[in-house]
Amino acid sequence: MTDSPKRPFPGMQLYRGENTLPKNITFIVTEECNFRCTYCYLVHKNARHRMSFEVAKAAIDYVLEARELFPEPEVIWDFIGGEPLLEIDLIDQIIEYTKLRTYELDHPWFMRHNYSITTNGSLYHTDKVQRLIRENNSVGIGITIDGPKHVHDLARVYKNGSGTHADVLANIPLWLKQRPGNSGTKVTIAHENLPHLAEMILYVFGLGIKEVNANCVFEQVWHEGDDLILEQQLDKLADGMFAQNLWRTHNCTFFSRGIGQPQGMDDNGNWCGSGFMLAIDTMGNFYPCNRFLGFSLEKRKERMIGNIHDGIDINIMRPFLALTRTSQSSQECIDCEVSRGCAWCQGLNYDEADTSTIYQRVTYICEMHKARVRANKRFWERVVEAERKQG
Ligand code: SF4
Ligand code: SF4
Repeated sequence: MTDSPKRPFPGMQLYRGENTLPKNITFIVTEECNFRCTYCYLVHKNARHRMSFEVAKAAIDYVLEARELFPEPEVIWDFIGGEPLLEIDLIDQIIEYTKLRTYELDHPWFMRHNYSITTNGSLYHTDKVQRLIRENNSVGIGITIDGPKHVHDLARVYKNGSGTHADVLANIPLWLKQRPGNSGTKVTIAHENLPHLAEMILYVFGLGIKEVNANCVFEQVWHEGDDLILEQQLDKLADGMFAQNLWRTHNCTFFSRGIGQPQGMDDNGNWCGSGFMLAIDTMGNFYPCNRFLGFSLEKRKERMIGNIHDGIDINIMRPFLALTRTSQSSQECIDCEVSRGCAWCQGLNYDEADTSTIYQRVTYICEMHKARVRANKRFWERVVEAERKQG
């Protein structure tokens, strides 16, 4: 007897054991975007591939019925693109269907769910989007703004090359009013905007956004000396946060407690959630994360783990479930004195590897991480000092 791919191996779960992290189910509702950001990793955007409701419905039915593969007590239904708000009617249908179906199945996710939309913000004010926001409190929205106009418009441009800052900025007050306390943004740092890092993040704080999830891109974009610019910019950001007394109330993930130490074998997990998330493309194919779709890959073929018809193939999943830090790192990284917090992207690792392995870690970010660690240490020393003075 052969194993059915839908019910592959009893007891095997796409689940991180005993923790209670929510399951991320990501719908790539379209491969199109109305922007053409210069640093975008979606290298093959197109208007041809849009998800239909039939595909979305089949994916939801599969996920909700395969309880042994998805035993998490909670779910985040995620919508990305391209630009997901281009498909607002579909998102509306998906949200309604997940509520209906989890209720009918008496599924624990009926009570424990959230929705998340990651958008460029340009369509936030439109009637359909606004109706969805009003009717669904559990929909979290993340809008990306890369600082003031002269910086944001360096990279975040429309298809015709014109800047998008004015259109995004116009929607920020409405977003902050509708989602007070729940509005974070993402800032992506690449070579071009690196010299503006402090200005960008302080500008975003000035808009009333208190959480900035910032990262340096993992791709090979860095020039010699960029690490020193990063370090100077992070010191400048810290100066601004202390001068404006933002260090208690505002958070930028460049400054994180606990990064920059050596890691032992008791800290050997994979960095990213690849394999424990589920991404669904417009055709109903499943992936370990959205970076394994064809439109995110430059050199390698897409890497599916199943589809809505056959379910997840656990044999294809195995290499993802077995990933650890040391199994994909060089000896230099394993022995590194500051490795904690040094990140990687599994999809980029796969795209850049010498063979089609996912076990070869890309380290273009090495000097940037070391610079971050140095500035981060100084930031937290200042926090300790400021707390001591304030008693
Ligand atoms: S808005 Fe997002 S998906 Fe669109 S081009 Fe920019 S980075 Fe890419
Ligand atoms: S990439 Fe560089 S900083 Fe990161 S763990 Fe490896 S050696 Fe350390």
